[in-house]
Amino acid sequence: MTFQDLNIIPPILDAIREMGYNNPSPIQEKAIPVILSNKDLIGCAQTGTGKTAAFAIPSIQKIAAVKSSNGAPRVLVLTPTRELAIQIEENFKLYGKYLKTRQTLIFGGVSANMQISSLRKGTDIVIATPGRLLDLARQQEIKLSSVEILVLDEADTMLDMGFVNDIKKILSFLPAKRQTLFFSATMPPPIRKFATSILRENVEINV
Ligand code: AMP
Repeated sequence: MTFQDLNIIPPILDAIREMGYNNPSPIQEKAIPVILSNKDLIGCAQTGTGKTAAFAIPSIQKIAAVKSSNGAPRVLVLTPTRELAIQIEENFKLYGKYLKTRQTLIFGGVSANMQISSLRKGTDIVIATPGRLLDLARQQEIKLSSVEILVLDEADTMLDMGFVNDIKKILSFLPAKRQTLFFSATMPPPIRKFATSILRENVEINV
């Protein structure tokens, strides 16, 4: 199996090739077709499996297929920590380099000024920790009504860290008609219940 077999478009194939990846990892092989076919996804996967590329590559491909001019984010990734947010943003930047997708990083503990100015310039993809994102949404500094794809990364960790209410409030700003991709390293009953409460009919993947 190759990335080409997964119907990845040439500008992303070129970026993947430059990173030296020869073949998709198991989670990429399973998740990419599901995401490209517009279905919701529950992915049970640890870090180190290639899960970031599994959601970043098809998300970039989907937004590149339909142009938008309004400058509001079309992909929103929620992740528990600043370190993870930074890594995810680097991934999006690398896979999207030939498509010139714009990404914005949002996390707490630093001034919001740069984050706000990046949003005002227009962005395609926002990678955020929940608390600061909710602050900016409440201040109307970010418009979440154009989000087409929501990714919850490390959902179990976000719930362990007490972000459940922030996430629920963020969801209230998002369109009901969207694609939701839910990734978690573990899937105990409360996490599964939370997932099914926010996803439509979905495909589940375990690696
Ligand atoms: P992740 O699980 O997203 O944290 O990714 C783990 C590591 O695997 C990262 O350093 C990626 O750059 C790398 N990686 C992701 N996909 C592939 C692939 N298809 N082939 C080789 N390495 C990969």
